[in-house]
Amino acid sequence: MSVTLYVDAARFRANQHRILATQPELVPVAKGNGYGLGNARLAEEARALGVDTLAVGTYAELPAVADHFPASLLVLTPWRDFEAPTEPNPRVIHTVGRLEDLKGLLARDPEARFVLERLTSMLRHGFTPRELRAAGDFLQSNESAGFEGIAFHLPMGGASHLSEVQRLMTDAVAAGLPPTTIWVSHLTDAELAQLGRSWPDYTIRPRIGTDLWLGDRGAFAVRATVLDAHEVERGDLFGYRGRAAPKTGTVLVVSGGTAHGIGLEAPTGASTIKARAGAIARGGLDAAGFVRSPYSIGGKQRLFAEPPHMQASMLFVPQGAPVPAVGDEIDVRVRYTATAFDRVVIS
Ligand SMILES: *Cc1c(COP(=O)(O)O)cnc(C)c1O
Repeated sequence: MSVTLYVDAARFRANQHRILATQPELVPVAKGNGYGLGNARLAEEARALGVDTLAVGTYAELPAVADHFPASLLVLTPWRDFEAPTEPNPRVIHTVGRLEDLKGLLARDPEARFVLERLTSMLRHGFTPRELRAAGDFLQSNESAGFEGIAFHLPMGGASHLSEVQRLMTDAVAAGLPPTTIWVSHLTDAELAQLGRSWPDYTIRPRIGTDLWLGDRGAFAVRATVLDAHEVERGDLFGYRGRAAPKTGTVLVVSGGTAHGIGLEAPTGASTIKARAGAIARGGLDAAGFVRSPYSIGGKQRLFAEPPHMQASMLFVPQGAPVPAVGDEIDVRVRYTATAFDRVVIS
C-alpha cells in the first residue's frame, strides 16, 4: 500500500565514496525530508563514511540524527535566541550571522562552538564586511575558543563563484579572524582546488547534499502500488466529485497522494487555445479535463481521473491499454526532496 523508494545500495554508496575520494573534507548535509531517504538514514550513511561532521538544516532536525551520527553536528540555519536550544551541546556547531546573536550565544554558553556566516550574493544570512570586522573585534576582546571558521552559502550553478569567494576571503582576513576553516557550498571540484591553492592556511570544507545523496539517479526507483481497479463505461460516475467517465476504460486506484507530495502536473500538451480546441475535437481525455499524472504504466504516462486524494490517487486507463493487477507496482516520477515515501528499501 506504499509509495516506495528503492535504492540500489552499491550504486548509492559508490557515488558517496567517489565524492569523498575527491573531497576528503566533505561535510554531508542531511536536512528536510533527508533528500527522500530520511535524515536518520543519512546520518547512518555519514557515519559509515567516517566523516567528522554532519550538517543539518535546523535545530529541530538535531534529535533525528544525534543518535545515528557520533561526531560534530553543524546547524546551517543561523542561531536566533528564539529558536536555538538553551542547553549547551558540545557536539553542535552553531552558525552565527549577526553580532547580537554572537553575543547572545556566548552569553548562554561561553564554550559554544560556532562558525561566522559571511553574507554572499545570495543575500540570505550573514555578516557584511563591516559587521564581520565588528565580530572579529568582539572575539579578540573575548578570547572565544569556540570559533570554528567562516561559512559562505553561494548561489547554485551559473558563472564561476571563485571571484566572489576570493573577495569574501579578503573580508575574513581583514576582520582579523584566525585562519581556520572555510565552510562552503555549491563550488565545483576545480573551484575548490583553486581556493585551496589560493588560501593554503585554511581548510576548505564543502557542504554537500544533493550530489552526495542523489548524484547517481540511476541508483533510485520509485514505485506505487495498485490498490484497486474498476471498469467503467462512458457516462459512469466516479470520484469525490461524481464526474462521468468520458469513455470506456478502467479507474485505477493507486497509492500516493497529496500527503506524499504527489500533485497535479501541468496540463497535457494542449496549452494553447488552438491545441486545446484540437484536443476537444478529437475527444481526447485531456479535453475531458483529465490532467497528466506522474504515474506511468508500462512506460506510458497516465492521466489522473481526478485530483490526487490524501493517500491515494485515481488514474484513468482507457480501454485497450494494459491494466496492472491489484498488488502490482507502477512507476511514479517524483521530486526526491519533496516526497514523503512510505518505505525506503536499500538493497
Ligand atoms: C542545503 C544546503 C547545502 C547543501 O545543498 P545541496 O545543493 O543539497 O548540496 C549547503 N549549504 C547550505 C547552507 C544549505 O542550506
